[in-house]
Amino acid sequence: MGMNGKSSILLIYTGGTIGMKEDPASQTLRPFDFSQIMSEAPELGKFAMRIDSETFDPLIDSSDVEPSLWQRLARLISERYDEYDGFVILHGTDTMAYSASALSFMLEGLGKPVIFTGSQLPIGRPRTDGRENLISSVEIAASRDADGHATVPEVCIFFNDTLMRGNRATKVNATAFGAFASPNCPPLAEAGISIRYNRSVIRKFTGNDSDLRIHTGLDTRVSVLKLHPGLTPQIARHVICDPGIRAVILETYGSGNAISKPWFTDILREASDAGKILVNVTQCLAGEVDMTLYATGKALADCGVISGSDMTTEATLSKLFHLMGRGLPAEEIKTLVGVSLRGEISK
Ligand code: ASP
Repeated sequence: MGMNGKSSILLIYTGGTIGMKEDPASQTLRPFDFSQIMSEAPELGKFAMRIDSETFDPLIDSSDVEPSLWQRLARLISERYDEYDGFVILHGTDTMAYSASALSFMLEGLGKPVIFTGSQLPIGRPRTDGRENLISSVEIAASRDADGHATVPEVCIFFNDTLMRGNRATKVNATAFGAFASPNCPPLAEAGISIRYNRSVIRKFTGNDSDLRIHTGLDTRVSVLKLHPGLTPQIARHVICDPGIRAVILETYGSGNAISKPWFTDILREASDAGKILVNVTQCLAGEVDMTLYATGKALADCGVISGSDMTTEATLSKLFHLMGRGLPAEEIKTLVGVSLRGEISK
């Protein structure tokens, strides 16, 4: 909070549809500069708060996001942490759930809101969803409880009137305004006439600003194998046993079931014996992995596969990047995969 009692927000623009305009030459959407976004949402000027902005260079379509962008965001938030009450990150929707998940792990001891948002239609278009998303995100980032603490001290995604925990959200619709869902965790807030916070779900923060610790080490030696009928031993072996891979996320069927043929379990056992970390998450949008339910799931546990419970693939991937990037031993990583570090798992 500034000296005059006004809230202060840092708006970080990384790219994405929200700020894109049609490039007449190629007739495709490309990111444009931030001043245009601000002029498209003059309502922001009605808030009694200071809104500063930071524009990344180059602005990108989020399909091009690399972990280096997450490191840049974590460093920026940490450097400017004391100056602002909250942070709003404008980001493309395609990989927003990955970035929000990653930041949730990289920012330990977070006591202020970090709200990712974007839009399905550019902010300059008459029917844009970008204006509402941006304005409500700024309001949420500045919101404080009666005791002066941030209402939502978490990394979140705000989209289409709904505030979701970032590491629980996933992009579920390529065209509708409701692009994101959080199937295994209720919304943290819903925006109607007023913004209604779901305080029983929002994580409590009782520490101090000085508690923020950033972890920028990320080890990306993780592969993801989505099971499907017709998967061949050659492809499975390539994705699971490549020597450059240290952890594998298996996107399995239903409650964590996989191919029970010996060629598949042999590959898993070989990878596990070689020290690889194998994590089981479900291809289903909602629900959780339970490897005790069916023989096929039990066979995976017997091969050393650990349960990712009800984590999204996005959260599991970035959690592994983070835990491996901290240089922790494999056994500790395996234990922590099943522990909720930032509310990413219902345990
Ligand atoms: N391709 C765009 C991006 O992720 C889509 C969007 O922003 O909605 O950057």
